[in-house]
Amino acid sequence: MTIPLPTAALTTALATVRGVCPHDCPDTCGLVTQVNAAGRAVSVKGDPDHPFTRGFLCTKVARYLDRVYHDGRLTTPLKRVGPKGRGDFAPISWGEAVATIAAKFTDIAASPDGPQAILPYSYAGTMGKLQYASLDRRFFHRLGASLLDRTICATAGAVGSDITLGTRAAIDPEAVAKSRYIVNWGSNTSVTNSHLWAVMHHARKAGAKIVTIDPHRSRTAAKSDWWIPVRPGTDGALALGVMHVLFRDGLQDDDYLERYCVGTAELRQRVLNDYAPHVVARITGLPVETVEQFAREYGNAQRLFGGPALIRLNYGMQRHGGGAMAVRTVCCLPAITGDWRHPGGGALLSTSKMYPFNERYLERPDLIRPGTRTVNMVKLAEALAGELPGPPVKALYVYNANPAAVNPDQSKVLTGLERDDLFTVVHDLFMTDTARYADIVLPATSQLEQFDIHASYGHLYVQVNPPAIAPLGESKPNTEVFRLLARAMGFEPQLFDTPDEELARQSMVGGGGRVYPSESAFDGVSFDRLMEGGPVRLNLPVDYAPFADGNFGTPSGQCELFSRRELDAGRDPLPHYVPPHEDPQTRPDLATLYPLQMVTPPVPSFLNSSFVNVEALRKAAGEPVVEMHADDAAARGIVAGQSVRVFNGRGRFRAKAVVGDSVRPGVVVSFGIWWNRYTEDGVNVNTTTSTAVTDQGGGGTFFDNLVEVAAL
Ligand code: SF4
Repeated sequence: MTIPLPTAALTTALATVRGVCPHDCPDTCGLVTQVNAAGRAVSVKGDPDHPFTRGFLCTKVARYLDRVYHDGRLTTPLKRVGPKGRGDFAPISWGEAVATIAAKFTDIAASPDGPQAILPYSYAGTMGKLQYASLDRRFFHRLGASLLDRTICATAGAVGSDITLGTRAAIDPEAVAKSRYIVNWGSNTSVTNSHLWAVMHHARKAGAKIVTIDPHRSRTAAKSDWWIPVRPGTDGALALGVMHVLFRDGLQDDDYLERYCVGTAELRQRVLNDYAPHVVARITGLPVETVEQFAREYGNAQRLFGGPALIRLNYGMQRHGGGAMAVRTVCCLPAITGDWRHPGGGALLSTSKMYPFNERYLERPDLIRPGTRTVNMVKLAEALAGELPGPPVKALYVYNANPAAVNPDQSKVLTGLERDDLFTVVHDLFMTDTARYADIVLPATSQLEQFDIHASYGHLYVQVNPPAIAPLGESKPNTEVFRLLARAMGFEPQLFDTPDEELARQSMVGGGGRVYPSESAFDGVSFDRLMEGGPVRLNLPVDYAPFADGNFGTPSGQCELFSRRELDAGRDPLPHYVPPHEDPQTRPDLATLYPLQMVTPPVPSFLNSSFVNVEALRKAAGEPVVEMHADDAAARGIVAGQSVRVFNGRGRFRAKAVVGDSVRPGVVVSFGIWWNRYTEDGVNVNTTTSTAVTDQGGGGTFFDNLVEVAAL
């Protein structure tokens, strides 16, 4: 099924199509694609009429046509004709590809191991509601395949935020213009959320102070009024120390706490007893004065800066052993100060839960067979090695993802992908590191070639993305591929034959069940209106402050500083500090061998592992580097620009040393995620990262990684 192209694209000199950037980024930019009379896209620009993204794109998507018309685009299905990993393939027809996959899946499903020996593997290579999660989920649920727990990015934060608030921490991002004390906490906002940064910048011109809490002097930290270089994985302790000062100095909002929160007295006692600034300073590596000053400024934002405080909390604080607890703890702060009351005040993790899409309709979880096992995607290395409970993984179907580059414990993942008895399918635009290990490779469409409907996790607009051009070669979107596979497997047509537009229309009906007052958020945002083109704001008030009057999504309806649910589950009902798994303070044995804490933020020129094969962007990225403090470099005889080996017990990779003061002593930063084929030694930073998961939510702990660095 292919959505008809806009007629104008075929009949006028330059047709214009308004669409949406699909990448895993909170900004969800509006795109304007111009298409010539031959049906070729000639430009992709930011949509100037998008109220939030306002016409500018990041450097990656500004070069989107380099990706769409890249020489390496896959245009036909392929079958492997050489050893796994070498990249030798021959073209085949879609008929042969689909028949091969269906026959293999049928055989495995009928074997004693059953269909759970088939594992889907996907993440957010495209974020549209249909191509991210719809017929693919229906297909694997109907098949009886293992379930995949998609934890690699954000589940620790989701769980942590949910404990305190009953949903994701969120405010109206446009109201950030009214914030006057802006804290980027584990968030490189100017790079990874650049349109929100523009609003922050606007607020700063009106008097706001911008603070960034990050172990690395990121571009955002460098542009901020104050950089607080917290030790990796200790954000929760800092938040507890801030609470200590707020309660000690009477900076709490007693009225808000009384009306809308439970557990104030218990939390107050906990932080006054256990988290004095000198204790927190020892954990976080910050001076006592920094903890005190930050807490006092945060608690006095209205008086000192003339408006509310906002915390933009993000993924940096989640990717540690205590990531869920850190987010849970930070989410308590705006309730203590009462900042949730004010437009622009509070905390912002994700706006995704503001959208009442009917995901049950799209994904049909009712098709899941009782007792089906769930595999945590962070544990792919163990899954492929047969180390998890349940049947062995005999088939792997990868789409919207590139686990050979992205997953932790990379060497073990690659060993698993090399297994001769593993049948692997990869559906992608390019011959990624993972695709090289596939038995069958299927060509995927780009966003310009497919229909979708988009929410955002960084603003409040919904928009459809009509195809601007015809699919390149024989490429197909996920929805179409799963229709073909379902037909070949003899699955019920009524589950799969609904056209994409109709799936999108139905996804806007009957969602509800959200904790914000957003069951009505689609009122007036009809599908037909979206099909007229451009973004439409959710039906939420201007400067929406969702928790101004309480209205939390917890069982009590209150902000749960004390969590009865946690107590009932046998866990501490109050926020507390959970150290990283690999922490020199708690693991001196490990730190003797590998004394440096390494964090791995994204390369600004790439988006996760997307765009690494776009030459101009790869050139801009340079080469893999490791940033280290001058004292640490000197102690190892390392000078700036030197090639070094970064290693631990899991693996090693080469990088160029960048020496200076962008990190504190004892911390190193190496940017991910390079494709292995573009590195000197054929591996990337994930050869050292661990498959250990966060305290709750099963999240990845990519920033919780002790290493040593040696000169080469
Ligand atoms: S990746 Fe983000 S900033 Fe870049 S165009 Fe897409 S949505 Fe906008």
